[in-house]
Amino acid sequence: MPIYLDRNCRLKHSFIIKYHSRDTLKSALLHGLFIFNRHLFPQCPTVKVSSESVNIKPNPRIVPAFAPITLCRVHGLGNPICPEKNYYYRKIIQAWGEILPEVYERGYWFNLAGPGLPFIMVHRIRTQIPAGHELGITGWRVETINHWGSEAPSPYIAAKLMWDHTADVDALLQDFYEKFFGPAATPMGRYITAMDAALRDADYHTGSSWDMPWLYPAQMRQKARALLDEAQGLAGDGIYGQRVGGLRLTFEYLEAFIEMLQRRTVHDWVGAKAALDRTQVLREEMNAFDPPMANPNPKAKHPPRTEKSETNNP
Ligand SMILES: [Zn+2]
Repeated sequence: MPIYLDRNCRLKHSFIIKYHSRDTLKSALLHGLFIFNRHLFPQCPTVKVSSESVNIKPNPRIVPAFAPITLCRVHGLGNPICPEKNYYYRKIIQAWGEILPEVYERGYWFNLAGPGLPFIMVHRIRTQIPAGHELGITGWRVETINHWGSEAPSPYIAAKLMWDHTADVDALLQDFYEKFFGPAATPMGRYITAMDAALRDADYHTGSSWDMPWLYPAQMRQKARALLDEAQGLAGDGIYGQRVGGLRLTFEYLEAFIEMLQRRTVHDWVGAKAALDRTQVLREEMNAFDPPMANPNPKAKHPPRTEKSETNNP
């Protein structure tokens, strides 16, 4: 069981309660609180279970960390295309806030099971963090992964907003574009804005990589590629050119991945295999960057469903 210190260096215990159906949320909350009250604080039992309508007064030293793995991780709050995320995110945090003085957010600032395909989520972060503050969240302990190329500048914006939920996101983005991309700031800003908006406005939800062709349709990718071409031409051969090139690799990776899926769909297995091989070459190039443009962890190298299987090769 992990143990955390809060911002005032007070000792806190942390725990995770897993539930697999929103219908069982109440019973999961009550069961979890009953267990952890007994095991963490046996010297001061405060749990009373009397009947079906359980009346629980959990020890206020318990700090729940909310990990919304079953909610959509593509969209933010207040997005009309994803009403379920907005409703349940607020409902669950409010339910915890009614019975305990502090609630932590232990969510996911990345695309779970994603191998490093573009997943720019500024639209999500800029609504979810201020909403979390409004709902009374007192701490963020969010899971991330070092997909620098495919998520930038999302982790940077998240860090700024978690520190100050009133930060001006548009000003932060403009500052990032100018300092990170130099003479290529304008087309790279337009590229990141377009990729961010593609996720925000797509009626496809939560993780994995199967929806990539629909999240980024062909016409959208054509425009994105034109912006990258323009940016590469402006960036020069120095550090700005290297940075544009790093992000460009993640886009090439997306193109190869989508081609692999589409060729497989039409039973072009030879073509699908060639596209898969191209993704592996691109990953090696992405990992050659410092820092790596995608998570170099071998376990995250590829989802098992696309991993090249040496044992199956003739
Ligand atoms: Zn959604």
